[in-house]
Amino acid sequence: MIFENVLLVNPTEKEFVCDIEIENGTIINIKKKDASWKYILFPGFVDTHTHGYMGIDCMSASSKDFENWASLLEKEGVTYLFPTTVSASKTSIEKVLEEFNKAKHPSLSGIHLEGPFVNKEKAGAQNKEFITSFSQEKLPKNLDNVKIITAAPEIEGFEKLYSISSSKKIKISIGHSDAKFSDYSFWYRKGINRITHLPNALRPLHHREVGAVGAAVLLGFYVELIVDGIHLSPEFVKFVYKTIGPSRIILITDSISATGLGDGKYDLYGLEVYVKNNVARLSNGNLAGSTLTFSNAVKNFAKITGCSLHELSLVTSYNALKNLGNEIKIQPGERTKFVLVDQDLNIIKTII
Ligand code: FE
Repeated sequence: MIFENVLLVNPTEKEFVCDIEIENGTIINIKKKDASWKYILFPGFVDTHTHGYMGIDCMSASSKDFENWASLLEKEGVTYLFPTTVSASKTSIEKVLEEFNKAKHPSLSGIHLEGPFVNKEKAGAQNKEFITSFSQEKLPKNLDNVKIITAAPEIEGFEKLYSISSSKKIKISIGHSDAKFSDYSFWYRKGINRITHLPNALRPLHHREVGAVGAAVLLGFYVELIVDGIHLSPEFVKFVYKTIGPSRIILITDSISATGLGDGKYDLYGLEVYVKNNVARLSNGNLAGSTLTFSNAVKNFAKITGCSLHELSLVTSYNALKNLGNEIKIQPGERTKFVLVDQDLNIIKTII
């Protein structure tokens, strides 16, 4: 297929107008030109942290459900999907991995394990019953497709978890943690460079203990952000954009199965979740993931920060893949996924 006169947003360059020919997922030709444009072509969006969508829940999904989830997300522009578990029993997590390993869809890129090796005091909407310290026998089997584990460095056994994860090329992301600045600094020097949904369920900034936010600003961490207008105020999003900058921000949805289904009562691995006016909460009032769609995350971030299209391609895809060791290259011969949007960032077509 050929797209004529599109504004191509290349994360490693700048945007330019071109005709681009793509065949079976491979770029055949890019012809730069001086012309007016109507549509924008972004690298496909990446969601590295999502628990569910449209009634599908990662914890109970069959391999077919994972495939449907990936297909449904084409309308959100998501071309790399990392279904995310919650703190659960080892058996439940192993069942998720088993189903995921059978699923086939080009967008299914790996699993993110959020917990159970996190801090109970920072549980948020993680089920405390399953939160635990780490020891090797607690680690689920079949980790081949696990790409990210959210864990808290202060828990017992973390050092062991980090060394096993590193040997399996699984990224540790600090999350649901009360770690102090000195802990971030220590682990950053050891090679950890990612923070889960900053600053939710993390130690806040204090002028004598700058916590997760201080670490994110002062050190080189990549940070996940939930830009749904609920988890973070617009001012916090602006603050992160101005201090940490667009090269280290990774937009995520943290969406739960209620996303796209409207208000009501839902289940999050044994915890009751009440969705009212699109806000998901446990009965104790804690936020319980989001009902944010990726396309809305993109629009919200653009609106709040006024960022450039190039910066938007960083926070929606380039950074997430780079953080996992993959670099997007947009040039002939490369296999690249794209999303075509209009000038208001509405998704027109997703090219996988
Ligand atoms: Fe979380």
